[in-house]
Amino acid sequence: MSKILIVEDEESIAELEKDYLELSGFEVHIETNGESGLKEALDGEYDLILLDLMLPGVDGFEICKRVRKVKNTPILLVSAKKDDIDKIRGLGLGADDYVTKPFSPSELVARVKAHLARYERLIGSAVQENEIIEIRGIKIDKTARRVYVNGEEKQFTTKEFDLLTFLAQNPNRVFTKEELFREIWDMESVGDIATVTVHIKKIREKIEFDTAKPQYIETIWGVGYRFKV
Ligand code: CA
Repeated sequence: MSKILIVEDEESIAELEKDYLELSGFEVHIETNGESGLKEALDGEYDLILLDLMLPGVDGFEICKRVRKVKNTPILLVSAKKDDIDKIRGLGLGADDYVTKPFSPSELVARVKAHLARYERLIGSAVQENEIIEIRGIKIDKTARRVYVNGEEKQFTTKEFDLLTFLAQNPNRVFTKEELFREIWDMESVGDIATVTVHIKKIREKIEFDTAKPQYIETIWGVGYRFKV
């Protein structure tokens, strides 16, 4: 449930806003003066702030500026005076929108919903899901570079991780040791294709139940390896 902070000194307006927002399924908290409003806006966890401009103590302009310095929470300014709007625009306070009193409650709710949806989209696009490969009990988190075997995390060196991931991403394809060496180690690397054999052995020790009978990375005699699915 989205939480909304209302900072408004006129209690009848605050209650009206609260009623309509609660009817729309929001959780609402009211502060009726500038100081407590600023404190709550800074310390609390809110999804949106509905902020009256003319407040005793610290006014809405100041609250908006101070909150914006540390948080991206959407802020809707509520103003009684038409000419405040020009001031809001001119100041570049970082408010997301404004509503002038008197407002229709349904319009207010619609604006609140629109800004919440926009903000959630922004957050959603910033946080991307990890890229994960899962094959029969093995989970490779490519983003976090972690490997889990039957739910238990195993430690892999960089090259072991790269090699395992490459094979798992190309299942059922046979790669020669030369191909794997070219793929995982760059040309300047010290070593030769025997390095591949050593790494395969180490990976098997971590992922295979019985390294003598590998279930994941198979040896194709005379050719190379493949990750079996
Ligand atoms: Ca006021």
